[in-house]
This record gives sequence, structure tokens and C-alpha cells, in this order.
Amino acid sequence: MNPDPILLPAAGHKHIIWILRDKINSILKKREYRMKITFIGAAHQVTGSKTLVEWNPGRFFLVDCGMEQGENPYEQAEMPVPASKIEYVFLTHAHIDHSGLLPLLIREGFQGNIYSTPETENLCSIMLADSAQIQETDAAYETKKNLRTGKEAVAPLYTAEDAADTMKHFIPCEYNKMIMVDEGLSVCFRDAGHLLGSSFIEFFLTEDGIGRTLLCSGDVGNLNQPIIRDPQVRPEADYLLIESTYGTRFHDSSADPIPVLTEVLRSTFRRGGTVLIPSFAVGRTQELLYFFREIKQRKLLPEYQDFPVYVDSPLANEATAVFLQCSSECLDEDARQIMKEGINPIWFDGLHTTVSSEESKALNTNPEIKVIIASGGMCEGGRIRHHLKHNLWNKKNTVLFAGYQASGTLGRIIFDGAKTVKIFGEEIETGAEIRLLEGISGHADQKGLLKWLFSCDSRPASIFVNHGDDDSCEGFAGILKDEYGLPAIAPYSGSEFDLLKGEWVRLTCPVLKNKGIAPDNAPPARKKDSPYRDLIRAVKDLQEYAEGMEESSNGEIRKLTEQIRKLMD
Ligand SMILES: [Zn+2]
Repeated sequence: MNPDPILLPAAGHKHIIWILRDKINSILKKREYRMKITFIGAAHQVTGSKTLVEWNPGRFFLVDCGMEQGENPYEQAEMPVPASKIEYVFLTHAHIDHSGLLPLLIREGFQGNIYSTPETENLCSIMLADSAQIQETDAAYETKKNLRTGKEAVAPLYTAEDAADTMKHFIPCEYNKMIMVDEGLSVCFRDAGHLLGSSFIEFFLTEDGIGRTLLCSGDVGNLNQPIIRDPQVRPEADYLLIESTYGTRFHDSSADPIPVLTEVLRSTFRRGGTVLIPSFAVGRTQELLYFFREIKQRKLLPEYQDFPVYVDSPLANEATAVFLQCSSECLDEDARQIMKEGINPIWFDGLHTTVSSEESKALNTNPEIKVIIASGGMCEGGRIRHHLKHNLWNKKNTVLFAGYQASGTLGRIIFDGAKTVKIFGEEIETGAEIRLLEGISGHADQKGLLKWLFSCDSRPASIFVNHGDDDSCEGFAGILKDEYGLPAIAPYSGSEFDLLKGEWVRLTCPVLKNKGIAPDNAPPARKKDSPYRDLIRAVKDLQEYAEGMEESSNGEIRKLTEQIRKLMD
């Protein structure tokens, strides 16, 4: 239930009513009203989710506090307030691109509570500790290098201690329960079906009787993912912040991973080889375990029924333990049914969870047929690189990719068919068979995003599109506007929107990393210009034209001024 519902008329009249009511209130009470959203991270990019909301004057909360990953073309705007001024963080899910900078926020002085589902909290406790270890290892490596050349030591972004401190701030919130967090601030977490514990979050903001609702999608899950539930229907909201990772793309909905996986196992085992799967530790690894359990339980590979599966990633094994302890509320019908039959959906005979590096090394001298699932998912780090070094050359083996390989990563280079690759300084031939497991994705595609958006009839007064590269976020915003007549926009980092008045306070231009404002407002890698960038360029051209009119006659200047005024009206 909305704790302080405001009945609003149809979308077309909303703004006028809001503005009139705000004006009357401010005249009568002579006080300042402010309710504002500032887009900081994942603006025109896929990682680094971070959105600041001022729900009452001078009172702030964050939605997600993620780390940027991979190459991002744009600078992220500075946070306009210090960490100590932020009172709460609401976390949609545990993925590092949504949670990875929480320990830094704590280090910088954040003292408030972090609200998330219990499963997100449990996954964060292992993922942030793992991330801190990576930060410390990287900093130690850089320090060693720097000291040899007379440069300064490098401090880690945050430490294991910061990550442990972060966990003390978590407040667990169950799905579908309204939580009154503070005066004028209530929230409700709903299942987003993207990762165990993932949520979209409803915010009910009120200021002196004036209310607005804001819905932040987090990452919207793909339909029919194993283990976890499908996304819940979208609730009504005045404003919607929606992700667009696959905003212009479609998954192959006919692809069924189990027959492909079975065929890959059979053909590799017939050669006496190993199936090597680079996998993300949290989510994807547990899905793979679900598929292997299915293959064994349904006896799809009777000739190799006892084949062993080694999960060679301490983080993946800790994450599997979190999955095994989760509330049944998080599981889909199939997983619950399997559990009712007394079967563990992600555990089976022949599953080995190796942890020590000795056990990991021993796998490469063991000649038995087997599956090795190792981190990391794009072969950029983790134990997979050791296994690739020992297995990639051998024609008996198969490297099976089970997720997206970003350009420039070792995974992508292997997938694109390089004859040899360099691993730990050694040139290794790519003799193994290279395969892709299609039909698995944690993200809704365009069809799924639209289905979720239209699972509720009410139209938001504004839709902000984020968490997608240029083509995806602008393409998806364009589809919402042009094909469905919805008021959608993909704002750049630093843009601010007044939630009370329903209007932009500031719409920023893109700032390219290390290069300042883009001369033509377009990143170099971009294939085609967006209508929004065309507009900004046209406005700049007009300004240049106007500035060049200093010497023109007053009549000409007046005429142009009138034309511009008319255009603006
Ligand atoms: Zn995610």
C-alpha cells in the first residue's frame, strides 16, 4: 500500500496540477520544496550504476553504488554531495557494477543504512570481499612495479576491512513489504528475476503532503531463467528509471541450452577430452550446475552418466552455498518442485568443488574425461587462464563459452578464432574446439523489457533510460517515444530532473574520458548519430551563427530573434 497516496489525474494534466499545487503551497507556507533525481552512473553505459535522489531539501539517498567495468567512453559526473551527506543506499542487486563502490562510499564517510534483500546482502558479503582482494592484489602489483622505477606506492581503492565494514550497514528487506524508512521516504522491493535476490525498487516520496512515486528497475531479468523467478509485474509509478542493456537486441528464444550442452559433452568425451567453461562465478555457474543436474537426472548422457564436474573458483563455490541457503520465495516453480521431490536443484553426484590451488593444478594432469567450470567469465583473470594454458592447445578438448565476451578480452580473441594466444607470456595454440552455449542470459531483451514495462497499464510521466551503451539506451528510448508515444529520454551523467515540477533542472552534454566535451558530441566508436545529439549539434550551430551576426543590421538580428522565439513557443 502506498503510505501517502496522491491521486493524480491523467498524464496530460499532471504537470499543470503539480506546478499549481507546489506554487500555492510555497506561497502559503513560504518554504522551499525540492525533490530531485541526479543521474550519475550507468548513464549511456552499461556499468557503474549510481543514481542520487534528493527526496526533501538537503536529504539524499543513492540507488546502487556500482563500479565501472571494462571500457567506458564517458566521464562520470562528480557526486554533488559528500558521502557523509547521503543518508541511505538502496541496492537493487549484488552484481559489482551495482554494488562494487559501496566500500569506497563507507571509506569516504557514508554512515547510513544500506537496504537490500537478504539474498543480495549474502551475495554482497562474498562479492565485496572478493572485489577488495582484487583491489589489494592489483595495488600491491602496481606498487612493486612503481617502487622499482622510483615512483610512489599505490593504495588500493578499498581493502578487505572496508568491505567487512560495509556489511555492518546492511538492513535486509523482504520482497513485497512496504518499508517506512524515514519521514517522507518509503520503499518496496520486488523480484526483478535477474539474479538471486535481485530487485526493482519502488520509492514513495512525500514532502509536506506532496507525493511522487519513482520506480528503479535495476536489471530486469530474462524470462524462464533456471532457479530464479521471472520478474514481477511493473507497479504504477510517476517516474520510471529503466535499464536498456539489450534495449535494441533480441535473444534467440528458441535456443534450449540443455541439448547443446549434452551434445558438447558427448562429442568431447568421445575424444577423451575435457570441457572447459569460463564462467562468471555468481549466477551463471549455478545455472550451469542446474543444467548438469538435469542432464544427469534425465539420463541424457547414459554412456557417461558419472562424468565429474569441477567448479574451480572459491567465489563460485561460496555463491553456490548462498544459493543453497536462499529462501524458497526466491525460487521459481520448477526449482521448488524439484526440491519438494527431495532433490537439490544445483547439486549432483560427481560435483567437485575444488578450492586449493594444489587441487586446481592437479586437474590439469588428470587424464579423465571431465568438465571444469572456472572463473572468470571473459578469461581476463581467475583460474581459467591456468586451465586454458594447459588445455587450449589440445584438439581433444572443448572450450565452451557461456556468456558475452567483451571486445578486447582473451575470451573474445579465442572466440573470434585466433590461431594462437599469449597466456602468462607463453604462445599457446588454439587447437581445442570452440563452442558457444546460446539461450542463456540474465537480462531481458527488447521484447522482455517492453513486456515488463507494459505489464502495468499506467504511463509514467517521464521514463529515464540508463544502463545501456549509446546504441542501446538511445535506441530503446527512441522506440518508447516513436513507437509507443512515451515520454522517454536517456540522460547523460550529471543531468538533474525536478520530480516535483516534472521538468529538467539540467541536461548535460556527454563528456568523453580524457578529452573533455566531445567536439561533435559523439564518441569516436559511434557508428551513427542519435536524434538527441543531432539536436544538441543544431543548437550549437545556431549559437555560432548568432554570435557571427554582431556586424549584421538590427533588422536582421531582430528577425532571427523573433524566429527563434516563435520556434521556442
Ligand atoms: Zn546485474
